[in-house]
Amino acid sequence: TARLPLALVTGANRGLGLEVCRQLRDRGYRVILTARDPERGREAARDLGVEFLPLDVGDSASVARLVAELRRLDPEGLDVVVANAGVALDGFDAQVAATTVDTNYFGVLRVVEGVLPLLRQDARLVLVSSGVGQRDLLSADLRARLDLDTLTRDELSAFMQQFVDDVQAGRHREAGWPGTAYGTSKIGVTALAHLLARDLAGDPRHLDIVAVCPGWVRTAMGGPNAERTVEVGAASILGGLEAPRDDPHRFYRDGAHASW
Ligand code: NDP
Repeated sequence: TARLPLALVTGANRGLGLEVCRQLRDRGYRVILTARDPERGREAARDLGVEFLPLDVGDSASVARLVAELRRLDPEGLDVVVANAGVALDGFDAQVAATTVDTNYFGVLRVVEGVLPLLRQDARLVLVSSGVGQRDLLSADLRARLDLDTLTRDELSAFMQQFVDDVQAGRHREAGWPGTAYGTSKIGVTALAHLLARDLAGDPRHLDIVAVCPGWVRTAMGGPNAERTVEVGAASILGGLEAPRDDPHRFYRDGAHASW
Protein backbone atom coordinates (compact mmCIF):
# COMPACT_ATOMS: atom_id res chain seq x y z
CA THR A 1 0.00 0.00 0.00
CA ALA A 2 1.10 3.56 -0.69
CA ARG A 3 2.71 5.52 2.15
CA LEU A 4 0.34 8.06 3.69
CA PRO A 5 1.74 11.53 4.41
CA LEU A 6 2.71 11.69 8.10
CA ALA A 7 1.46 14.46 10.40
CA LEU A 8 2.22 15.19 14.06
CA VAL A 9 0.20 17.46 16.36
CA THR A 10 1.22 18.62 19.85
CA GLY A 11 -1.16 19.18 22.77
CA ALA A 12 -3.80 17.14 20.96
CA ASN A 13 -5.71 15.30 23.68
CA ARG A 14 -8.39 18.02 23.66
CA GLY A 15 -9.43 21.33 22.16
CA LEU A 16 -8.03 22.58 18.88
CA GLY A 17 -5.22 20.02 18.71
CA LEU A 18 -7.69 17.15 18.87
CA GLU A 19 -9.84 18.66 16.11
CA VAL A 20 -6.75 19.34 13.96
CA CYS A 21 -5.95 15.62 14.25
CA ARG A 22 -9.48 14.73 13.14
CA GLN A 23 -9.31 17.04 10.13
CA LEU A 24 -5.85 15.79 9.11
CA ARG A 25 -7.10 12.20 9.40
CA ASP A 26 -10.08 13.10 7.17
CA ARG A 27 -7.65 14.61 4.63
CA GLY A 28 -5.84 11.28 4.36
CA TYR A 29 -2.87 11.79 6.67
CA ARG A 30 -1.38 9.21 8.97
CA VAL A 31 -1.75 11.19 12.20
CA ILE A 32 0.38 11.04 15.35
CA LEU A 33 -1.62 12.60 18.18
CA THR A 34 0.70 13.66 21.01
CA ALA A 35 -0.13 14.71 24.56
CA ARG A 36 1.69 15.11 27.87
CA ASP A 37 -0.77 12.84 29.71
CA PRO A 38 -0.38 9.36 28.20
CA GLU A 39 -3.74 8.09 29.41
CA ARG A 40 -5.80 10.97 28.07
CA GLY A 41 -3.72 11.06 24.90
CA ARG A 42 -4.08 7.36 24.21
CA GLU A 43 -7.83 7.50 24.80
CA ALA A 44 -8.25 10.50 22.47
CA ALA A 45 -6.19 8.77 19.76
CA ARG A 46 -8.19 5.57 20.13
CA ASP A 47 -11.46 7.50 19.70
CA LEU A 48 -10.16 9.06 16.47
CA GLY A 49 -8.50 5.94 15.15
CA VAL A 50 -5.08 7.62 14.98
CA GLU A 51 -1.74 6.84 16.63
CA PHE A 52 -0.47 8.21 19.93
CA LEU A 53 2.97 9.19 21.22
CA PRO A 54 3.68 10.97 24.53
CA LEU A 55 5.11 14.48 24.39
CA ASP A 56 5.50 17.14 27.06
CA VAL A 57 6.75 20.21 25.20
CA GLY A 58 8.17 21.57 28.45
CA ASP A 59 10.64 18.69 28.72
CA SER A 60 13.64 18.35 26.35
CA ALA A 61 14.07 14.68 27.25
CA SER A 62 10.46 14.04 26.23
CA VAL A 63 11.11 15.71 22.86
CA ALA A 64 14.23 13.57 22.38
CA ARG A 65 12.27 10.38 23.14
CA LEU A 66 9.57 11.41 20.66
CA VAL A 67 12.14 12.02 17.93
CA ALA A 68 13.67 8.58 18.51
CA GLU A 69 10.21 6.95 18.36
CA LEU A 70 9.34 8.80 15.15
CA ARG A 71 12.53 7.58 13.45
CA ARG A 72 11.46 4.05 14.29
CA LEU A 73 7.85 4.56 13.24
CA ASP A 74 8.48 6.00 9.78
CA PRO A 75 12.12 6.41 8.73
CA GLU A 76 10.95 8.50 5.78
CA GLY A 77 9.99 11.29 8.17
CA LEU A 78 7.30 13.88 8.69
CA ASP A 79 5.23 15.84 6.18
CA VAL A 80 3.30 18.12 8.57
CA VAL A 81 3.94 19.26 12.15
CA VAL A 82 1.37 21.38 13.99
CA ALA A 83 2.88 22.93 17.14
CA ASN A 84 -0.39 23.55 18.96
CA ALA A 85 0.29 22.90 22.67
CA GLY A 86 -0.12 26.03 24.76
CA VAL A 87 -1.34 27.45 28.04
CA ALA A 88 -3.22 30.58 29.05
CA LEU A 89 -2.91 30.85 32.82
CA ASP A 90 -4.90 33.05 35.17
CA GLY A 91 -3.21 35.99 36.84
CA PHE A 92 0.16 37.58 36.22
CA ASP A 93 3.27 36.94 38.30
CA ALA A 94 6.77 35.51 37.90
CA GLN A 95 5.55 31.92 37.91
CA VAL A 96 2.86 32.58 35.31
CA ALA A 97 5.38 34.40 33.10
CA ALA A 98 7.93 31.58 33.39
CA THR A 99 5.48 28.74 32.72
CA THR A 100 3.73 30.56 29.89
CA VAL A 101 6.90 31.48 28.03
CA ASP A 102 8.43 28.05 28.65
CA THR A 103 5.38 26.24 27.24
CA ASN A 104 4.19 28.57 24.50
CA TYR A 105 7.51 29.86 23.15
CA PHE A 106 10.29 27.49 24.26
CA GLY A 107 7.93 24.51 23.90
CA VAL A 108 7.41 25.34 20.22
CA LEU A 109 11.15 25.91 19.75
CA ARG A 110 12.05 22.54 21.37
CA VAL A 111 9.61 20.68 19.15
CA VAL A 112 10.66 22.48 15.96
CA GLU A 113 14.37 21.96 16.59
CA GLY A 114 13.74 18.31 17.51
CA VAL A 115 11.73 17.45 14.39
CA LEU A 116 13.73 19.56 11.92
CA PRO A 117 16.03 16.66 10.89
CA LEU A 118 12.96 14.44 10.37
CA LEU A 119 11.18 16.71 7.89
CA ARG A 120 10.71 15.37 4.38
CA GLN A 121 10.70 17.13 1.05
CA ASP A 122 8.07 19.93 0.97
CA ALA A 123 7.21 19.44 4.67
CA ARG A 124 5.26 22.14 6.47
CA LEU A 125 5.50 23.41 10.03
CA VAL A 126 2.48 25.24 11.45
CA LEU A 127 3.02 27.13 14.71
CA VAL A 128 -0.21 27.95 16.55
CA SER A 129 0.12 31.53 17.73
CA SER A 130 -2.55 34.13 18.48
CA GLY A 131 -3.66 37.48 17.20
CA VAL A 132 -3.49 38.76 20.77
CA GLY A 133 0.30 38.66 20.32
CA GLN A 134 0.50 42.14 18.78
CA ARG A 135 3.93 43.77 18.63
CA ASP A 136 2.47 47.14 19.62
CA LEU A 137 2.00 45.72 23.12
CA LEU A 138 5.77 46.24 23.41
CA SER A 139 7.54 49.55 23.96
CA ALA A 140 9.08 51.10 20.85
CA ASP A 141 12.54 50.12 22.12
CA LEU A 142 11.60 46.47 22.55
CA ARG A 143 9.80 46.44 19.21
CA ALA A 144 12.90 47.73 17.50
CA ARG A 145 14.83 44.71 18.78
CA LEU A 146 12.44 42.37 16.93
CA ASP A 147 14.10 43.03 13.57
CA LEU A 148 13.02 39.98 11.58
CA ASP A 149 15.78 40.43 8.99
CA THR A 150 18.67 40.32 11.42
CA LEU A 151 17.52 38.79 14.73
CA THR A 152 18.93 35.31 15.35
CA ARG A 153 16.96 32.51 16.95
CA ASP A 154 19.21 32.67 20.03
CA GLU A 155 18.61 36.41 20.27
CA LEU A 156 14.84 35.88 20.09
CA SER A 157 15.09 33.29 22.87
CA ALA A 158 17.14 35.73 24.97
CA PHE A 159 14.48 38.37 24.29
CA MET A 160 11.74 36.07 25.59
CA GLN A 161 13.84 35.09 28.60
CA GLN A 162 14.43 38.78 29.32
CA PHE A 163 10.67 39.22 29.71
CA VAL A 164 10.56 36.40 32.28
CA ASP A 165 13.57 37.83 34.13
CA ASP A 166 12.11 41.34 34.13
CA VAL A 167 8.80 40.09 35.55
CA GLN A 168 10.73 38.14 38.19
CA ALA A 169 12.69 41.28 39.13
CA GLY A 170 9.52 43.39 39.27
CA ARG A 171 10.68 45.73 36.51
CA HIS A 172 8.71 44.54 33.48
CA ARG A 173 6.75 47.79 33.14
CA GLU A 174 9.75 50.09 33.24
CA ALA A 175 11.48 47.69 30.80
CA GLY A 176 8.61 48.20 28.33
CA TRP A 177 6.83 44.83 28.54
CA PRO A 178 3.04 44.45 28.70
CA GLY A 179 1.28 42.84 31.67
CA THR A 180 0.41 39.75 29.65
CA ALA A 181 2.56 36.63 29.60
CA TYR A 182 0.29 34.95 27.06
CA GLY A 183 0.39 37.86 24.59
CA THR A 184 4.16 38.23 24.96
CA SER A 185 4.71 34.49 24.44
CA LYS A 186 2.65 34.56 21.23
CA ILE A 187 4.58 37.55 19.86
CA GLY A 188 7.56 35.23 20.30
CA VAL A 189 5.87 32.37 18.43
CA THR A 190 4.94 34.55 15.46
CA ALA A 191 8.43 36.07 15.36
CA LEU A 192 9.92 32.56 15.51
CA ALA A 193 7.96 31.49 12.42
CA HIS A 194 9.43 34.44 10.51
CA LEU A 195 12.99 33.69 11.66
CA LEU A 196 12.70 30.00 10.82
CA ALA A 197 11.21 30.72 7.39
CA ARG A 198 14.12 33.07 6.72
CA ASP A 199 16.75 30.60 8.00
CA LEU A 200 15.28 27.61 6.15
CA ALA A 201 14.74 29.42 2.84
CA GLY A 202 17.82 27.71 1.36
CA ASP A 203 17.05 24.22 2.68
CA PRO A 204 17.06 21.75 -0.23
CA ARG A 205 13.95 20.07 1.24
CA HIS A 206 11.90 23.15 0.33
CA LEU A 207 10.36 23.44 3.78
CA ASP A 208 7.62 25.83 4.77
CA ILE A 209 6.93 27.38 8.11
CA VAL A 210 4.06 29.60 9.14
CA ALA A 211 2.38 30.91 12.30
CA VAL A 212 -1.42 30.87 12.49
CA CYS A 213 -4.24 32.20 14.65
CA PRO A 214 -7.34 30.01 15.08
CA GLY A 215 -9.52 32.99 16.00
CA TRP A 216 -11.37 33.07 19.33
CA VAL A 217 -12.55 29.48 19.80
CA ARG A 218 -14.86 27.73 22.28
CA THR A 219 -12.39 25.41 24.02
CA ALA A 220 -11.36 25.16 27.67
CA MET A 221 -8.94 28.00 26.92
CA GLY A 222 -11.24 30.19 24.82
CA GLY A 223 -14.24 29.75 27.12
CA PRO A 224 -17.95 29.36 26.36
CA ASN A 225 -18.44 32.91 25.04
CA ALA A 226 -15.89 32.58 22.23
CA GLU A 227 -17.12 33.26 18.69
CA ARG A 228 -15.95 30.16 16.91
CA THR A 229 -16.54 26.42 16.99
CA VAL A 230 -13.52 24.18 17.35
CA GLU A 231 -14.11 23.00 13.75
CA VAL A 232 -13.77 26.53 12.37
CA GLY A 233 -10.73 27.25 14.57
CA ALA A 234 -8.98 24.05 13.48
CA ALA A 235 -9.71 24.83 9.82
CA SER A 236 -8.03 28.21 10.35
CA ILE A 237 -4.96 26.42 11.72
CA LEU A 238 -4.85 24.08 8.73
CA GLY A 239 -5.23 27.06 6.41
CA GLY A 240 -1.54 27.50 7.21
CA LEU A 241 -0.83 24.48 5.02
CA GLU A 242 -1.88 26.49 1.96
CA ALA A 243 0.12 29.63 2.76
CA PRO A 244 2.32 30.57 -0.21
CA ARG A 245 5.93 29.68 0.55
CA ASP A 246 7.60 32.67 -1.07
CA ASP A 247 5.61 35.26 0.90
CA PRO A 248 7.66 36.98 3.62
CA HIS A 249 4.51 37.53 5.73
CA ARG A 250 4.26 34.42 7.90
CA PHE A 251 1.16 34.94 10.07
CA TYR A 252 -2.23 33.70 8.88
CA ARG A 253 -5.82 33.42 10.02
CA ASP A 254 -8.42 31.64 7.85
CA GLY A 255 -5.83 31.26 5.12
CA ALA A 256 -5.24 35.02 4.83
CA HIS A 257 -2.63 37.42 6.22
CA ALA A 258 -3.20 38.37 9.84
CA SER A 259 -1.63 41.39 11.52
CA TRP A 260 0.62 41.14 14.56
P1 NDP B 1 -6.90 23.95 25.44
O1 NDP B 1 -6.55 24.52 26.77
O2 NDP B 1 -8.23 23.36 25.20
O3 NDP B 1 -5.82 22.83 25.03
C1 NDP B 1 -4.45 23.07 25.20
C2 NDP B 1 -3.70 21.80 24.90
O4 NDP B 1 -2.29 22.05 25.08
C3 NDP B 1 -4.08 20.66 25.85
O5 NDP B 1 -4.09 19.46 25.13
C4 NDP B 1 -2.94 20.68 26.86
O6 NDP B 1 -2.71 19.43 27.49
C5 NDP B 1 -1.81 21.03 25.92
N1 NDP B 1 -0.59 21.39 26.64
C6 NDP B 1 -0.40 22.39 27.53
N2 NDP B 1 0.86 22.34 28.02
C7 NDP B 1 1.47 21.28 27.42
C8 NDP B 1 2.76 20.70 27.50
N3 NDP B 1 3.71 21.20 28.33
N4 NDP B 1 3.05 19.64 26.72
C9 NDP B 1 2.12 19.11 25.90
N5 NDP B 1 0.88 19.61 25.79
C10 NDP B 1 0.55 20.67 26.55
O7 NDP B 1 -6.60 25.14 24.42
P2 NDP B 1 -6.97 25.34 22.87
O8 NDP B 1 -7.22 24.05 22.22
O9 NDP B 1 -7.95 26.43 22.79
O10 NDP B 1 -5.58 25.95 22.36
C11 NDP B 1 -4.72 25.31 21.42
C12 NDP B 1 -3.74 26.36 20.89
O11 NDP B 1 -4.48 27.42 20.25
C13 NDP B 1 -2.92 27.04 21.99
O12 NDP B 1 -1.60 27.24 21.50
C14 NDP B 1 -3.62 28.37 22.16
O13 NDP B 1 -2.77 29.38 22.67
C15 NDP B 1 -4.06 28.67 20.75
N6 NDP B 1 -5.14 29.65 20.64
C16 NDP B 1 -6.39 29.39 21.17
C17 NDP B 1 -7.40 30.33 21.06
C18 NDP B 1 -8.77 30.07 21.58
O14 NDP B 1 -9.62 30.98 21.51
N7 NDP B 1 -9.08 28.89 22.08
C19 NDP B 1 -7.15 31.64 20.42
C20 NDP B 1 -5.83 31.81 19.90
C21 NDP B 1 -4.86 30.84 20.02
P3 NDP B 1 -3.40 19.07 28.93
O15 NDP B 1 -4.79 18.56 28.61
O16 NDP B 1 -2.48 18.01 29.48
O17 NDP B 1 -3.41 20.32 29.75
